[in-house]
Amino acid sequence: MKTLLATAGACALLTLATVDAADMKSTDTSAAPANVLLAPWKGPYGGIPPFDQVKVAGLQPALEAAMTQQLAEIDRIANDPAAPTFENTIAAMERTGRTLDRVTTVYGIYSSTLNDDAVQAVEREMAPKLAAFSDRITQNQPLFERIAKVYDTRETSGLTPEQQRLTWVYYTNFVRAGAKLDAAAKKRTAEINQELARLFTAFGQNVLKDENDGVIYIEKESDLAGLPQGIRDGMAQGAEGRGQKGKWAIANTRSSIEPFLTYSDNRALREQAWRMFVNRGDNGGATDNNANITQILQLRAERAKLLGFPTHAHWRLENTMAKTPERAMELMEAVWTPAVARVHEEVADMQKIADDEKAGIKIEPWDYRYYAEKVRKAKYDLDETQITPYMQLENLREGMFYMATELFGFHFKPVDAAKVPVYHPDVRVWEVTNPKGELVGLWYFDPYARKGKRSGAWMNAYRNQERFDGDVKTIVSNNSNFVKGKPGEPVLISWEDARTLFHEFGHALHGLSSNVNYPSVSGTAVARDYVEFPSQVLEHWLSTPEILNRYALHYQTGKPIPRELVARIEAANKFNQGFKTVEYLSSALIDMKLHLAGSQKIDPDKFERETLASMRMPAEIVMRHRTPQFNHVFSSDGYSAGYYSYLWSDTLTADAWEAFTEAGGPWDKAVAKRLRDNVFSVGNTIDPADGYRQFRGRDAGIAALMRKRGFPVPPAAAPAAGAK
Ligand SMILES: [Zn+2]
Repeated sequence: MKTLLATAGACALLTLATVDAADMKSTDTSAAPANVLLAPWKGPYGGIPPFDQVKVAGLQPALEAAMTQQLAEIDRIANDPAAPTFENTIAAMERTGRTLDRVTTVYGIYSSTLNDDAVQAVEREMAPKLAAFSDRITQNQPLFERIAKVYDTRETSGLTPEQQRLTWVYYTNFVRAGAKLDAAAKKRTAEINQELARLFTAFGQNVLKDENDGVIYIEKESDLAGLPQGIRDGMAQGAEGRGQKGKWAIANTRSSIEPFLTYSDNRALREQAWRMFVNRGDNGGATDNNANITQILQLRAERAKLLGFPTHAHWRLENTMAKTPERAMELMEAVWTPAVARVHEEVADMQKIADDEKAGIKIEPWDYRYYAEKVRKAKYDLDETQITPYMQLENLREGMFYMATELFGFHFKPVDAAKVPVYHPDVRVWEVTNPKGELVGLWYFDPYARKGKRSGAWMNAYRNQERFDGDVKTIVSNNSNFVKGKPGEPVLISWEDARTLFHEFGHALHGLSSNVNYPSVSGTAVARDYVEFPSQVLEHWLSTPEILNRYALHYQTGKPIPRELVARIEAANKFNQGFKTVEYLSSALIDMKLHLAGSQKIDPDKFERETLASMRMPAEIVMRHRTPQFNHVFSSDGYSAGYYSYLWSDTLTADAWEAFTEAGGPWDKAVAKRLRDNVFSVGNTIDPADGYRQFRGRDAGIAALMRKRGFPVPPAAAPAAGAK
């Protein structure tokens, strides 16, 4: 039952929320569309999702039927007359909900990548129902009593370490969901969860609507000054796709806005684009999220109290590696001060260039990326336009495959499109095998932006690896929002996008490497502040000569990226770390402080403004995700009081990378094997701090992180991720 117990996924998880009002009203009540979703997956590879037969009209009836089925399965376990054992209780739970897992997988894909009015209607209808369903399981008293009995005797009943850990996971998740509360508190918790599910759905739909509807059209070619040709082409395609042929569109998404802010010479347009983007969810009117945030925070605070925690943050962090908000704050604050100091240096460098140009301006947030690019050029003789021609998406994908082969022994072969159906013509599928030629799993790749697809990039597991009832191979996917270029021309991406590509592929490899017995502890189902470590660490391989020389090939000449250009990239890799760190960390700190504030009524706008001022947030930078658009935190409980996780994981990442550099370098087979054996393959079968220690021989300190970002390394022992 992966649906209920998944504690982490990767990079902005899919929420389980999404029907089509039109479809629902349809007089055709034939069960056929739901039956396709309810049936076991057929075909090769142990069964594959039947995307060629899925209809939105089938989603809601299939979800309802699958929930009913799982509740019946669970009642049989709860009412079993036999004394509770691991086998008849925990293992039996692992066998429940198979149908719902398959249905929610397809539902999640529609919700995140094919989201239209029809899907949104299903989301609004089903989000509260799915929340209530989850509570019906965790609040099932006879079931919990059986789980508790197995838990109490887990160390003496002959269970394997993995079985003990799985029992702990079940017990902990049930208690955290309120299994020990009295009837009144349980009832209120369930009401809160349903109300939250409704608010999460509204929040996410509002952001998506502002992203879909917000657009700036440029009509004069002279207003494109500074923009490289590839970006102009993408903007022209974007306008044409919206029925505005002959114009250029700045879409209201990160992948469209950030390049524009980096290159456009037109300061007024930069400001206009920047304001459109940072005000998503904050424009008054029907899509404004401020009232939703206030309600979400109050409900979360009330639920935390019911569950016996001082705040939502304390509840959320209890089962993480950091364990307490205080430890997470300690790490964030240790990095915040040097990062802000670095920003002031960066701004001074930028201001000097602006002054030398006699621009007559003071650096504002819509100038940061633009002038940072100029500083990079001046200091390192490097600008993004020199790099981008070498960054062909398809070649870099081959580079990722090379990395996976060298480090993990995985081989990738494209699957014949006729053999495996996809949900959109842009999606392609690869078969993954091990050195013995045995099947490891499937990898689906959905690279391009389109209307109805959530922005950003993420990994999603369609099916987890498991072995306890037969050998089940995983199916994973990577999703991103690259701007599709002209037909037949290579898609060129930025260095940063290439890094994200490797990051998400790291999550995919985490899923593909899984070698466990039980699905609830498989793959990326690890602690929230640990799950970004395997993905972040693999970002490092992008800049290795082996990848760049083979795969960073110029799209016109086919020549590899020059060695001296790579050297300049390396020299510049600590460049702009003040900006990157502060942009991220301000969001992470606001997230944590909002969830430490308890039950006071919060005005999000005022809280954000006053808290940033008290933190001495540099005026030239805006939070990477402002509160009204912070999907990580408000479109599910997912990363709530958990956005710090990226920094926590990066502490491990930086330290793990040094394990390679201290040994034979990035391709050191022995270190790679230790990483695979203790981190990538073990899922949640062991405590992550133990897994890390077995990989590294010790805990991670903060020093490697500070070196990676080019900040001063504190002399004294500093907070150490991984230390208990
Ligand atoms: Zn990630």
